[in-house]
Amino acid sequence: MTMTGTVPFATASAAIDSASLQQPPPSHQAPFRPYDPQYDPLHAPDPGAGRAYAPTWWVASAGEPPEDDGPLVRDIDVDVAIIGSGATGMSTALYLAQEHGIRATVLEANQAAWGCSSRSGGQGQNASGRLKRSQWIQRWGMDTAKQLDAEIRSGFENFRELTRQIDCDAFDGGHLYLAHRREKLPVLAAEAQLMREKFGYATRMMSAEEVHEGYCDERETVGAMFEAEGIGIHPLKFTFGLMQRARALGVTVHTSSPVQGWHTVDGVHHLQTPAGVVRARRVAVCTGGYTGQALSPLLKNRIMPILSNSVVTRPLTDAELQATNFKSQTFLTDTRTLRFYYRLLKGNRLQIGSRSSVSGADAEHPVHLKLLTDAIARKFPPLAGIRIDYSWWGWVDMSHDMMPRITQPEADKKVWYAVGYGGNGVSFSTWAGKRLAERVAGKDTGKDVFELPIYGSPLPFPNVLGLVESRAFAPFRRVGQRMLYKWYWLRDEK
Ligand SMILES: Cc1cc2nc3c(=O)[nH]c(=O)nc-3n(C[C@H](O)[C@H](O)[C@H](O)COP(=O)(O)OP(=O)(O)OC[C@H]3O[C@@H](n4cnc5c(N)ncnc54)[C@H](O)[C@@H]3O)c2cc1C
Repeated sequence: MTMTGTVPFATASAAIDSASLQQPPPSHQAPFRPYDPQYDPLHAPDPGAGRAYAPTWWVASAGEPPEDDGPLVRDIDVDVAIIGSGATGMSTALYLAQEHGIRATVLEANQAAWGCSSRSGGQGQNASGRLKRSQWIQRWGMDTAKQLDAEIRSGFENFRELTRQIDCDAFDGGHLYLAHRREKLPVLAAEAQLMREKFGYATRMMSAEEVHEGYCDERETVGAMFEAEGIGIHPLKFTFGLMQRARALGVTVHTSSPVQGWHTVDGVHHLQTPAGVVRARRVAVCTGGYTGQALSPLLKNRIMPILSNSVVTRPLTDAELQATNFKSQTFLTDTRTLRFYYRLLKGNRLQIGSRSSVSGADAEHPVHLKLLTDAIARKFPPLAGIRIDYSWWGWVDMSHDMMPRITQPEADKKVWYAVGYGGNGVSFSTWAGKRLAERVAGKDTGKDVFELPIYGSPLPFPNVLGLVESRAFAPFRRVGQRMLYKWYWLRDEK
């Protein structure tokens, strides 16, 4: 018998006590434990068990979550287990069932789509990680950049098709990338030219007047880049839609079932949840920014969780709509390194989000909410002081080289993951799920596409200035993040 991997997180040296697994923990008697606003993936072993949703506009407006299979209450044997029920986990399950005839079992610590997928800005971009196409060329050269573009573009088209099939308030109106100061304009113009000439998009520049007249009177902008590829969605309705489709094909979704321990016996993965063990031949990890440090050594220190804040106002009155000249629900981002993302939602509420605190412990500090209310007043002066109806935050999965990975990190272990989208996962997560399903099903051999950088290597460890990469830097990441936030603020605002 061989045994590898981690054992239960709380008792790292203890073996699984099968008798104690028969005792349901308190979370089962009270499946909706309160939302923990200070949750921090770098400190907590897992995202909780049966916690309530974050108080988001999406949760308030999505309707009842679809039926699920409840908490796992006994030991089971499965072929494929998926950890995490966000858009990545649910699309992996959907495509495994739809295209490969594999009915996976999904384990979710809290409620369905509880993590980023119920908290995001819902801005579906034609992107995957944090890097722009010009940066792809710098990093990998034109040939690879073109192949990567074809792949991401296929993913975006697939996402577009899904948004037509799933009722998710989709607005297919493109993306306006607003220059918040004059020196950003040539940078945007160069990217727009590259998008047109090298990649064949119809991306173009717009004057501030065009933005004001055609979209909204956003007062900071001095001009913008417009790309036609951009779809704003209701991310929770969308993920619920993926889940309903997956369950209709025989997928099982156990909520309130956090994986709290993981070890491998003779190649079989034993995933310990509070009241049952899942013995799985293959495991797909889809835990995004909610990946605990103790979940798997394959992911430890390879994801940098970054907190992002979001607010939604009360509905704008007709007079406010006129004063701000909002004519479109096209989504907007600005050129700050710590960018703001915003849009008018269906029902005329304004959503805006940006960076938040560095640690979970500081997430409730009013300064982070003020960053957003100040931005509303600066960008849309007629809305200064408008009532905020919803305020929340969530952990974005940033990789240390700003690009995601959809990969099997070690060939001898039947474990795969799709993480590291860096705040660009609304559209790409569905394609990542499709590719992950192909890999888990063993249909990825001999296909050139899997040679691309996002498929070909594991997530890197932290690095210093892109030069030296080492897990030894991990304890200092937040010190570095605080320094970088100060530097970005000076660069963005001064
Ligand atoms: C505030 C915010 C704004 C964002 N805005 C945008 C945007 O506008 N555009 C964009 O493209 N992207 C955005 N993103 C990112 C985007 O939401 C995600 O990339 C996308 O939803 C895909 O998420 P996911 O399925 O990978 O992870 P998630 O939706 O986070 O799902 C992971 C799930 O794994 C579960 N889990 C974790 N550990 C365990 C465990 N041990 N056992 C069982 N379950 C576990 C969690 O509970 C969670 O539900 C934003 C993210 C945040 C936080």
